[in-house]
Amino acid sequence: MYKFKNTVINVFKGDITDENTDAIVNAANNTLLGGGGVDGAIHKKGGRVILEQCKKIGGCPTGEARITTAGDLASKYVIHTVGPIYGSHRGDEENFLYLAYFNSLKLALEYNIKSISFPSISTGAFGYPIEEAVKVVVKAVKDVLEENEGIENINFVLYSDKNFEVYRDYFDISF
Ligand code: ADP
Repeated sequence: MYKFKNTVINVFKGDITDENTDAIVNAANNTLLGGGGVDGAIHKKGGRVILEQCKKIGGCPTGEARITTAGDLASKYVIHTVGPIYGSHRGDEENFLYLAYFNSLKLALEYNIKSISFPSISTGAFGYPIEEAVKVVVKAVKDVLEENEGIENINFVLYSDKNFEVYRDYFDISF
């Protein structure tokens, strides 16, 4: 467990679709119409309600975030954000990954969300190296929490042992 100002931060191994925080974040793609990895898992367990809302939203640019309800999932909302595809943004990958976390947290604040769970955005099919990604995650979280109150709990739910270990080691020296 880590703490930054009034926010409790947890890092653990797990499946984000099991989370009962107010919101879970989906590592979506620009279409918002579902995909593999964590996106596929969220849509599969959440049901069609999520997909119907995503269709109405009509897509999401890289680095931005959109919100839907969470269907059959235990959380209230799904925040869909689109991280960068590593190697496809001419050096802007870091900025886009930062924005994905930053804009997800800002949207959570707008909706008065008190607890939120993140997967490791862009580090699966999108190929972002985990050791680089975690630094961006910590920076975005600190920047938002430095300026805003209201989020009580942030969980980082890692699916693999490797990602969990990389996060734990970096959070240990960051918080
Ligand atoms: P992206 O396209 O943004 O890379 P992926 O879903 O391919 O998204 O991978 C993002 C991260 O999510 C990867 O590190 C992967 O291990 C992890 N992941 C996959 N399924 C789940 C799940 N059910 N819960 C949490 N994390 C998951």
